[in-house]
Amino acid sequence: METGYLRELRQSFSSGRTRDAAWRKSQLRAILRLLDENENQIFQALQRDLGKHPIEVYRDEIGVVKKSVTYALSCIDKWMAPKKNQLPLLFFPSRAEVRPEPLGIILIFVSWNFPITLALDPLVGAISAGNTVVIKPSELSPETSAFLARTIPAYLDRKAIKVIEGGTDIAENLLQQKWDKIFFTGSARVARIVMAAAVTHLTPVTLELGGKCPAIVDSLSATLDLKVAAKRLAAGKWGACCGQACIAIDYILVEQKFSSALIELLKKSVKRFYGENVKNLKNLSTIVNKHHFNRLRNLMEDPAVAASIVYGGEVDEENMIIQPTILLDPPLDAEIMQEEIFGPLLPIITLDNIKDSIEFINSRPKPLALYAFTKDDAFKKQIVAETSSGSLTFNDTVIQFVCDDLPFGGVGLSGFGRYHGKYSFDAFSHEKAVLHRSFYLELEARHPPWNDFKLRF
Ligand code: NAD
Repeated sequence: METGYLRELRQSFSSGRTRDAAWRKSQLRAILRLLDENENQIFQALQRDLGKHPIEVYRDEIGVVKKSVTYALSCIDKWMAPKKNQLPLLFFPSRAEVRPEPLGIILIFVSWNFPITLALDPLVGAISAGNTVVIKPSELSPETSAFLARTIPAYLDRKAIKVIEGGTDIAENLLQQKWDKIFFTGSARVARIVMAAAVTHLTPVTLELGGKCPAIVDSLSATLDLKVAAKRLAAGKWGACCGQACIAIDYILVEQKFSSALIELLKKSVKRFYGENVKNLKNLSTIVNKHHFNRLRNLMEDPAVAASIVYGGEVDEENMIIQPTILLDPPLDAEIMQEEIFGPLLPIITLDNIKDSIEFINSRPKPLALYAFTKDDAFKKQIVAETSSGSLTFNDTVIQFVCDDLPFGGVGLSGFGRYHGKYSFDAFSHEKAVLHRSFYLELEARHPPWNDFKLRF
């Protein structure tokens, strides 16, 4: 039995108005207006939910979505246009096209760490493709969830795009309904629940998950390269939501002989970017809640791990801050090296030879993002050819997320499906094969009665 909101969404979709290019564009422009006219409210919500600095909020949330909308607006006519296909002679006389059509009603689950981007970026794709949508924000970022529930109906077509707030019970109830696609960003644990529920209606799913993202650091020799690498590594660990990001560096792999130089450089960057005293750290997001704070504290205070801390390790429980912390060679069977860290702890694992990093990575689940800092072209080729990950970035971190020309998504345990730019449009479209035949040139050989002559054909 369909609930009231689903009936309304289905009616909106059936009316055909969401397929219209003008509707799609008007909704995309409405997202731009929503962001422009509510910047301060977004800054405040993310300050309260995650202690994010407004510049970080602008860069990672408002700016990212505005870029996606602007790009979609500039491409949407091209994306919507049917593509004519050349057919082999056998089909003469015919013509064919591949026509993208919207799927229908989309359910988007959002995680708490980038609660604007991870709600609105998929929404941009779903609208561009002409769908109706329900967004389910995370209950762990309540201020941003309330902001979306307040502003989306005020700016967008409320009969076609809805926000449903709530925790597990609401999420589970949503999963019992029939959707045309579920787009899920979150943990592998909940992804299993989502996929199991999707089986009932054979609903297609995209799973944007996480995992442990390694950074291989080859022994760079030029001073400039080292300094740049250290800054980018620090940014890739602590710079976006304080390591609470699916594509944040989880651990670094480096040759033993180079580890102390690397640690010194990382310390320098950390002190410069965020300060030293845990009570006085700047530009660093807070840990989302007590549960995650305690989880992270337990990871580093595990007696087998604590001895490996070479920098940081302090916490400020009152303000939910954990100092950027570097650990050298914690035991590989400790939880910190088995589970996704999703916070400001950075293990550095030393190897005798940096080439061994490939085997190290391949013996673990496929990462969402793999980073490698090296100037060795042969080693680069080897990493490309011999590892598998959602993305692979050389000599930088995290910025692959904002490149509309690259697909974003995981592989193996880091998820499946992809989005961003045209890939988002495709994620929410069905490519329908349309074949137009003529009544001329009827070939009798294709019809019975079958005989020896037709067999030779
Ligand atoms: P989560 O799986 O706990 O929650 C994600 C969403 O699922 C939320 O909206 C939540 O309300 C909902 N949910 C929770 N329990 C549910 C249930 N029983 N049934 C149905 N829905 C339920 O994940 P999280 O803590 O919000 O996010 C952290 C994880 O997400 C990390 O693993 C991280 O790597 C991953 N992540 C991935 C990306 C990406 O783009 N690939 C981005 C951000 C986070």
